[in-house]
Amino acid sequence: MDILHHGAVDGVTGSCHQLVVSDCQSYLIDCGAFQGAEVSAKGAGHNQLEIEFDISTVQALIVTHCHIDHVGRIPYLIAAGFKGAIICSRASARLLPLVLQDAIELSLTRNKNLVDGFLRRIEKQMIALDYKTWFTLPGNQPVAMRLQRAGHILGSAYVEFDIKQTDSRVVFSGDLGAPYTPLLPAPQAPRRADILVIESTYGDRLHEKRKQRRQQLKRVIERALANKGTVLIPAFSIGRTQELLYELEDIIHKSKHGQHGKANIWQHIDVIVDSPLAAKFTEYYRELSLLWDEEARAKLKSGRHPLSFEQLYTVASHDEHVRAVNYLHSTGKPAIVIAASGMCAGGRIVNYLKQLLPDARTDVLFVGYQAQGTLGRDIQTYAPRGGYVFIDEQKVEIKAQIYTLSGYSAHADQQDLINFVTRINKPPQEIRIVHGDNQAKLALQHKYSELGFNARVMS
Ligand SMILES: [Zn+2]
Ligand SMILES: [Zn+2]
Repeated sequence: MDILHHGAVDGVTGSCHQLVVSDCQSYLIDCGAFQGAEVSAKGAGHNQLEIEFDISTVQALIVTHCHIDHVGRIPYLIAAGFKGAIICSRASARLLPLVLQDAIELSLTRNKNLVDGFLRRIEKQMIALDYKTWFTLPGNQPVAMRLQRAGHILGSAYVEFDIKQTDSRVVFSGDLGAPYTPLLPAPQAPRRADILVIESTYGDRLHEKRKQRRQQLKRVIERALANKGTVLIPAFSIGRTQELLYELEDIIHKSKHGQHGKANIWQHIDVIVDSPLAAKFTEYYRELSLLWDEEARAKLKSGRHPLSFEQLYTVASHDEHVRAVNYLHSTGKPAIVIAASGMCAGGRIVNYLKQLLPDARTDVLFVGYQAQGTLGRDIQTYAPRGGYVFIDEQKVEIKAQIYTLSGYSAHADQQDLINFVTRINKPPQEIRIVHGDNQAKLALQHKYSELGFNARVMS
């Protein structure tokens, strides 16, 4: 048995791992796109999405969750001739066609016939599984797998493989969520994992003030809106956008009874979700409320609508989007705009940044991880020095205020990653650390080693 890592080893994007059971039997875990400056060992990057490894032995692809850096290369996998099953959770099966449609239209073709044909093929190959249910995988040697809730985004899972011949249990963490994440319950550690492949996005950091995140968000937005202008929040369409809406609904709900000026801000602020995709995903989040955590379900029971409120506007068409950007640019009207992509690597947020970064009334609020080489990371780096960034080859000065709230990360932090391992009943013989910047991977390895685990940094 062997595990090959085709992505998310020198960074956090491009997740793609291959569990090789024998010379003629293997499985892929995720097939994601690279973002920003990150590339695979063989040079595949965000412009070069072709599958650059042999897929002739791959019997099935298991998808941990629907973020583009975990599924973005599926169209290329299919183009390369992959005909096996695409296995994911039931909620992921709802989200995946939409995500892939978007990915194809952005990078491959807008030809409706081609896109539809491709989606039909995907749906045929897809197998949706319930959590906690063993499933026998295709292949000569008996291998079973099951999905467990990962608490990262709706439908996210970590994957347990049981390889009968060697009696070994191999676990791939995918992206792990954290306690106190809005909407979703935190993941539980597996009972057994002989080999564990684990993400390390925040392997070197603790999310401070996670419990106070809502207060922090409220304070930052109130401060930001004191001078009018727009608050821009770059956010992934799936997961982060819904978490933010959930938090904003709560803040607005609680400010209803306040009398002072700040409560007033909340009663009149426009919240604009500028992403047709995010709007659709928000609908799915609403439909799949069975998967929510207790707090969220209790709100629903009490008659509240945690993912919608009166001041919420959705911008769908491109024309509307252009109008919204220009309107906010010329009027400086206070508003909160949530738009993708989460790392500002493309998507509608880029147009807002181009127009509004040079305006001192603008505030940009980062609530998620910004990978190296992305526009988001550049803004974080150069804004404090009074610098500038390049957008569409144009120099754009940063006069806007920039904030980063770490309590909103949808990823486990160092302590959560340690707990995930120490709570495994039978300790793993080997831990492979992936999906992190170098210093994060090394810091986590150091912690695991201190605890007596055999942990390797994959690169
Ligand atoms: Zn993710
Ligand atoms: Zn990820």
